[in-house]
Amino acid sequence: MWTFFDKFRARFLCRKGKRARTDSDNLFFQIPRIKKIMAKKASGTKKQKYVYKFGNKKADGNGKMKELLGGKGANLAEMTRIGLPVPPGFTISTDVCTYFYDHKRSYPKELQAQMENGVRNMERILKKKFGDENRPLLVAVRSGARDSMPGMMDTILNLGLNDKTVKALAKASGNERFAWDCYRRFIQMYGDVVMGVQSRPGEDHEPFESVIEEYKEELFPGEPHAEDTRLDADQVKELVRRFKKLVKDRTRKSFPSDPWKQLQGAVGAVFGSWNNDRANVYRRKYGIPHEWGTAVNVQAMVFGNTGDDSGSGVAFTRDPANGEKVFYGEFLINAQGEDVVAGVRTPEPVADLKKVMPKAYAELDAIRHTLESHFTDMQDFEFTIEEGEVYMLQTRNGKRTGVAAVHIACDMVREKLIDWQTAVQRVPADQLDQLLAPIFNSKAIKKANKIAHGLPAGPGAATGQIYFNADRAVEAADKGEKVLLVRIETSPEDLRGMIASEGILTARGGVSSHAALVARQMGKVCVCGADELSIDYHDKTMTVGKLVLKEGQFVSIDGTSGNIYEGKVDTSPSEVVQVLVQKTLNPKKSKTFRDFSQLMGWCKKVTKLGVRTNADTPEQTENAVAFGAIGIGLTRTEHMFFEGNRIDAVREMILADKMDDRQKALDKLLPYQREDFEGIFKALKGLPATIRLLDPPLHEFLPHDQAAQSQLADTLGVSMDLISKRVHELHEFNPMLGHRGCRLGVVYPEISAMQARAIFEAAANVQKKKKIKCRPEIMVPLVGFARELELQIEVIHRVAAEVSKEKKVKFNYLVGTMIEVPRGALTADEIAKHAQFFSFGTNDLTQTTLGMSRDDSGTFLPAYQEVEIVKSNPFASVDQDGVGQLMEIATAKGRSTRPEIKLGICGEHGGDPSSVGFCHKLGLNYVSCSPFRVPVARLAAAQAALEDAPAPKAKTAKKAVKKKSRK
Ligand code: PEP
Ligand code: MG
Repeated sequence: MWTFFDKFRARFLCRKGKRARTDSDNLFFQIPRIKKIMAKKASGTKKQKYVYKFGNKKADGNGKMKELLGGKGANLAEMTRIGLPVPPGFTISTDVCTYFYDHKRSYPKELQAQMENGVRNMERILKKKFGDENRPLLVAVRSGARDSMPGMMDTILNLGLNDKTVKALAKASGNERFAWDCYRRFIQMYGDVVMGVQSRPGEDHEPFESVIEEYKEELFPGEPHAEDTRLDADQVKELVRRFKKLVKDRTRKSFPSDPWKQLQGAVGAVFGSWNNDRANVYRRKYGIPHEWGTAVNVQAMVFGNTGDDSGSGVAFTRDPANGEKVFYGEFLINAQGEDVVAGVRTPEPVADLKKVMPKAYAELDAIRHTLESHFTDMQDFEFTIEEGEVYMLQTRNGKRTGVAAVHIACDMVREKLIDWQTAVQRVPADQLDQLLAPIFNSKAIKKANKIAHGLPAGPGAATGQIYFNADRAVEAADKGEKVLLVRIETSPEDLRGMIASEGILTARGGVSSHAALVARQMGKVCVCGADELSIDYHDKTMTVGKLVLKEGQFVSIDGTSGNIYEGKVDTSPSEVVQVLVQKTLNPKKSKTFRDFSQLMGWCKKVTKLGVRTNADTPEQTENAVAFGAIGIGLTRTEHMFFEGNRIDAVREMILADKMDDRQKALDKLLPYQREDFEGIFKALKGLPATIRLLDPPLHEFLPHDQAAQSQLADTLGVSMDLISKRVHELHEFNPMLGHRGCRLGVVYPEISAMQARAIFEAAANVQKKKKIKCRPEIMVPLVGFARELELQIEVIHRVAAEVSKEKKVKFNYLVGTMIEVPRGALTADEIAKHAQFFSFGTNDLTQTTLGMSRDDSGTFLPAYQEVEIVKSNPFASVDQDGVGQLMEIATAKGRSTRPEIKLGICGEHGGDPSSVGFCHKLGLNYVSCSPFRVPVARLAAAQAALEDAPAPKAKTAKKAVKKKSRK
């Protein structure tokens, strides 16, 4: 499958250049460029600035310029300005990236001179020279998009080295091994990134790594994990020779020795990496626009690999896994930063730095506080210690798990670093359901066979079949298997496999390795650096002691403790669920629950959009209400038809071809339905319930195979012929467009009457016996013509009046419709004359607007997303340009004839944060989603409200919200 996609994508990317040119012919696409040209003309002959210098406490840019300088460049400038120790350098702006792609991968003519100026500035500050044979300036060339895309684009370190400068570096540092080690790293990175010496299809190892492994095998036979630091200077020189040979063999080109050529190659490769496969996959997953482009940062090298008084590390100002306010991170002595993030060596916890380099530790701890108070968010920073001196190489807002995001946001409000409105906006709504994610069942885990332990890098519990290769993991997941991706260490190429997996397990790498970072962001369970595991890619096995596990066997991992277990282990609900739903945990004992509840409390202050739930049972209703749902937005009555043996009565009703027989069957169904609704009304305790009349085509309830049909014939005491005849009659070629929805009620009004009676009798009973107010909102599905609704409403009102008289109760009820076919939306003004509410059934509305089957679109939608026909799955996130327009039309038209009409949404989109934002903008009254999505929707609704208008201040807030709240 993927091979097909890969080919498709390759063809698409080839065509992309052409498409970009076509786009640029379009006036709309030219507007930004025209504006730029006009701005340039207005400013006379002033040359456009492409290069922004920083160093020595001065910077051309600042932290607000992320659009132009990328996140990394802007923050390097900002850190320089606030006096942190940042090695000097310059940032090439994202404008150059746009130019590069618009002009067949060439550069603006001013760029070279501006880069030369940037290099001269670095030379002046450091008193070194680029390419100099005595005091060579070496640089790092790194990507940096507006939003960080960890590990997705390319980086080149130690640039400027060649056979001559390496000797100067050896002399200047007094450390020959170090100099040659830098050189071999440079050839490896440059060879890979710029010259394309990469693993070929079917190779699990990078070619340079294979050369190292082979050489180590020659030097230290039988020690596959021998550390690189054991190679002496001459041995590293030999590696350099072998690396150059590898480059020559693979590319037929010699490794370039001119530093300026090297720099040009590196800059081009970094811009080029904006369009590599993994960056594209990442952008699509996180909705980062292709047009943004990346900046390129050229920065003077500082060395963490000069000896035991040097090192590199990645640290977080708080724990990104659980949010605790501790100095968190890790470092490696005598190593460059890439070693820490690449996960090739397993680093030490940053707390241990205190013992080995107390001065550097104290300085870093002070920097940690400066960063938090300046940026007022948790920072993820990279540092290097060169001979005892601390240097900052990067800072950015740290990626964190959903649990950490909630804790950090709440703690920062308590610490008065941020206000509660900022806290609400800080927690990504999508991540909130990680707080509801299951954990291992405590009884099951005691019995489980723990086989190893790794670093807890992404919390939660995951069980799955192990796969050692990303492609095979994707294939297995496509087949419906629950998959754990197991790798020695992950590389960005594994991204697809990581997305497809329940969890990720690696034998090497620390908590800030690529695997951990990406897993946390995706909310995947992750355990890394489990070095007791011996993974054999060739045999597809994972060995721990004597236990050999083959690909496809089950393993369970706990990303909170780091434990690894053999086989499947049962999971238990999260603390929030234990407090709210199961009521088995005291809220005082759960900080996670308390912070969750605090956050939800803040959401309540600002939210305008109500959040209801799609629930069919009392239990689901109770869960949703516990999560803060303010009612039911959709009960699919037919979901109850399969409970117990009531399906027999349903089938009897369907098989009846006479009115009398149908009524008899309906009379049997009535008590069942009434009981269901009583349960729901009780669980709602006075909150409103939108209950939908029967929707699916009737044949869905009939058995289709012979054996089941003959069993049904026996149960109902009818002939087998009758059953197969009726099944045949009810067969539909396109059932989603056939006899379903209100069309059933129009043809068989007695079905709607029975359902309405069940609803009203249940409401009467609960109101009388339980003294609970009931607020039924009866919803007619699939309406496209006002008259359809009118006919159904007559039935409903008639039954309501009958039951009211019989039971001597008054009902507070509404009748409305779903808007789920385009005609319904387009004639909403007519429909609203009858409907007291609309609920957008965006599952069907998407299906009918796009002419795309919601059940079959999975076969082609992934390809559509791959080639960017659709940015996201329209069945998950509202297609705002198409379906959204119909929603806008229906909203406006509905309100034109009935200004007070209540508007909601009950398609799956009701739990999707971006769709919730869209519904807020449309001015709907509520969204409705599955119970476990309720907190996500509440947060998304609050964020949409805050984006719209700043929240009113403290005391007045309550009143204002009360006034405005629309339920
Ligand atoms: C819808 O179409 O959006 C909807 C909620 O109804 P169903 O999914 O039951 O068709
Ligand atoms: Mg529908």
